[in-house]
Amino acid sequence: MEPINQDEISHVFGVSQVYLPDLVGVDWDNLDFLGWVHPSGSQAYFVLVSPETGRLTGAILSRKPRISYRPRFEMCSLCHHVHRHNGTAMFTLPKKGTSGRHLIGKILCKDLDCSLRIRNLIEPSSYMVETLYAQARVWRMQKSIHQWLKKAKRL
Ligand SMILES: [Zn+2]
Repeated sequence: MEPINQDEISHVFGVSQVYLPDLVGVDWDNLDFLGWVHPSGSQAYFVLVSPETGRLTGAILSRKPRISYRPRFEMCSLCHHVHRHNGTAMFTLPKKGTSGRHLIGKILCKDLDCSLRIRNLIEPSSYMVETLYAQARVWRMQKSIHQWLKKAKRL
């Protein structure tokens, strides 16, 4: 994605209490969306360019880490990375206009670093190696994000 600054991010959310990410060293060339987690761990944010309007759009998500004391494989539903242990969290997005009554949840990489994972830029690599080429993985991920946001009326 094209680099964006903190002012643009604040503008997307239009609220003052949004926790802004540190943008130093962000690898924009390898991102399809910018995702970050509040230090409390219970909230996360993401920003991307809407394919419908061409403008930046974003969402505030509730985040619940999934801690398991037994080894367990978990797959991110956006990037399909398979984590060996405690690598995912449950993210829920309230559907616009329902005052939080209608939530749409997804199990995702706990740090929302999916864009880097599909490009194999993060170690350890997925437990399940995919033969799908990188561009197809990017396309699949973008499609899932767009579907998710559209369902929540936030695209
Ligand atoms: Zn992921």
